[in-house]
Amino acid sequence: MTQTSTDLQKRLVALTRDLILIPSDASRPEDIERCFEFVINHVESLDNIAVKKHYHCDIPSLVVLPRNLDQPKVLLCGHLDVITHSDVHSYRSHIADGRIIGPGSADMKGPLAILMEIFRNLHAQYDNLPLGLAITSDEERGGESGMRFLFDEVGLRCDVAMIPDGGSLNKITVEEKGILHLNIRCDGHSAHAARPWLGNNPLERLVDATARLRKNFDSLKQDEGHWHPTCALTIVKTPNQTVNRIPSEAEGSLDIRFPSPYTVKDMLNHVRNLLGKEVDARTLISAEPTLLSPDPLYFSVTEEVTGKPASQEKEDGGSDARFIGRFNIPVIVSRPIVGELHSIDEWIDINSMETFYRIYELYLKRKLLI
Ligand SMILES: [Zn+2]
Repeated sequence: MTQTSTDLQKRLVALTRDLILIPSDASRPEDIERCFEFVINHVESLDNIAVKKHYHCDIPSLVVLPRNLDQPKVLLCGHLDVITHSDVHSYRSHIADGRIIGPGSADMKGPLAILMEIFRNLHAQYDNLPLGLAITSDEERGGESGMRFLFDEVGLRCDVAMIPDGGSLNKITVEEKGILHLNIRCDGHSAHAARPWLGNNPLERLVDATARLRKNFDSLKQDEGHWHPTCALTIVKTPNQTVNRIPSEAEGSLDIRFPSPYTVKDMLNHVRNLLGKEVDARTLISAEPTLLSPDPLYFSVTEEVTGKPASQEKEDGGSDARFIGRFNIPVIVSRPIVGELHSIDEWIDINSMETFYRIYELYLKRKLLI
């Protein structure tokens, strides 16, 4: 099958824009199912392919493998969920300046379109290709019922995983920070705010504790690359609605990111010590820092296709790669040129989508056709 560049670009743009029209965010499970149908329709006509849907806590994911093969050499991984925008009419796209602009275009409906297209084209071209596809629908919510479930509980394995959900065309992610999301809470005594000495203000103690945290994390700064632990206070609330009343309880949320060699345990102990006895910290999400160990062949193929060397990048944010990397499976994380992630004006560069497709195509042929 040969395609001219223009044909490939047109197909990728059309697929991406159709995917964007489906508002597949966590609040719309029926649209998530509809988006899975769209993906399945794209691949199920292939011969010798087995399509399997899995559910964990009612959250669907999809694994497409060559028949009679449990462990593909390469597994293409993606997610079809997008972050929630309150206006359902914002889930549309337009083309300007060589870009597809619209929510989810970069994270990751454009890259998903590339995965679907390359999977279909290569399987149509070659028999018995050890190439699989895994698509989940909870990446934006942490990936527990998606990629974690598939690898931890279903037992999905591969020699190499490819996730176009980080890095850039010539920037390949080699390391991701660990994640610790904490709920913090403090209890006290309510009182009239004119007589604060009669109360015990949990909101003030919570805020004081987070100020201690901020001061301490500021002291951990090392360089301009920000490759050090960070802590962001993201939510503070109290049920109290009355201005002249001391609240009886307060809670908040912290988002902590940390590089190796720190561990979840180190960070949790560190934060609990700083918060003190009066503030209780409960873990919502935790993930160790991950080394992705991408395949050196992918670096050389990227350079061959783009004419520029590929750099090794460290990523502040975590991705589904952590659920795979912890089984010592190399994970390749790079993607086309994108911007304005998670905004209504999120975009993906169309030329770079084609270049990215060519990188994947060449890498997969070198890796799989021996
Ligand atoms: Zn993503």
